[in-house]
Amino acid sequence: MTHYSIAAIPADGIGPEVISAGIEVLRALEKHNPQLKLTINTFDWGSDYYKANGVMMPEDGLAQLKKFDAIFFGAVGAPDVPDHITLWGLRLPICQGFDQYANVRPTKILPGITPPLRNCGPGDLDWVIVRENSEGEYSGNGGRAHKGLPEEVGTEVAIFTRVGVTRIMRYAFKLAQSRPRKFLTVVTKSNAQRHGMVMWDEIAAEVALEFPDVKWDKMLVDAMTHRMTLHPQTLDTIVATNLHADILSDLAGALAGSLGVAPTANIDPERRFPSMFEPIHGSAFDITGKGIANPIATFWTAAQMLEHLGEKEAADTLMQGIEHACSQGVLTPDVGGKATTADVTRAVVAFIEAHSPVTETV
Ligand code: NAD
Ligand code: MN
Repeated sequence: MTHYSIAAIPADGIGPEVISAGIEVLRALEKHNPQLKLTINTFDWGSDYYKANGVMMPEDGLAQLKKFDAIFFGAVGAPDVPDHITLWGLRLPICQGFDQYANVRPTKILPGITPPLRNCGPGDLDWVIVRENSEGEYSGNGGRAHKGLPEEVGTEVAIFTRVGVTRIMRYAFKLAQSRPRKFLTVVTKSNAQRHGMVMWDEIAAEVALEFPDVKWDKMLVDAMTHRMTLHPQTLDTIVATNLHADILSDLAGALAGSLGVAPTANIDPERRFPSMFEPIHGSAFDITGKGIANPIATFWTAAQMLEHLGEKEAADTLMQGIEHACSQGVLTPDVGGKATTADVTRAVVAFIEAHSPVTETV
């Protein structure tokens, strides 16, 4: 029996709807696999907690999370709390505090989903975007002077370090090496940004020497949006800065049909701390409470979590369950269907019940 402890933080908007659906499929996997035992503790941190306590999570929040094997996160963001407070109060402190420097964002067109691009079908856009998740444009450096006056100045300083860039580059080359095409695209903006971005290009060339079997190329981020849209088959593994990859991965999600099918894993590759698994999307106030949030991104990130924990078989069953539900047309409105969150959850649970490795114990 392998026992894992998971901290669930549903947080805001549709976060609680998709995380409770995610917990349902995890429980189904557990029920049908006697080797797997999950303890899931749910934390009520987020915008409501902020309104009651003035902080998004308690002061010892990270200390409380540290003892878990993984974190299963919904989304933050509320219409009546500034976005920088919700983001910097909960999600970013966890990513940075636990040095989850590799943010891994797979994309694939799932069967049954009609993508917006002509010439793309199931299995296409099989990409993994690796986002640098610890520094860059989201280091939190900058300031404002002369607030409200005509001479007001605001700065947002991107910080890139040799250690930070080298480790994400190694992670990306290694991931590319593990995939069939062994191909990496390094994205920067080193024509206009001539310091940190030029350092990215140089470090990419240095790290490439350690991976002679990986082919790689470079793109400027603006041209990358063009290539993702018009020549998507020419891409496989992609590495980019915190900001650039944030934007490119929303585009990737949309090209695969919806943000509702886009998962992400915030990984500490050295496994000193728990890693965090979440859908890419935010709290989506426009559909909160309607029961139609697409839970697929959350199910997919649950599969990433199981794989990270070493439960490859359970992760594979869950991925097959996702593909099965989609191919049967059990789709929420964001991907052109009429199903509810509960319908999709039921379809995936039914697949798990029918396909788990062991259904009986003596
Ligand atoms: P969003 O991702 O919440 O929504 C963008 C669009 O995608 C909306 O039309 C929404 O309905 C749709 N969508 C998103 N997830 C969906 C799902 N699972 N099923 C169906 N449709 C889905 O982005 P936004 O509207 O820019 O931001 C809303 C709030 O979320 C803001 O407060 C923002 O700061 C926050 N946010 C949080 C995170 C996070 O917690 N990681 C990420 C992005 C945005
Ligand atoms: Mn984002």
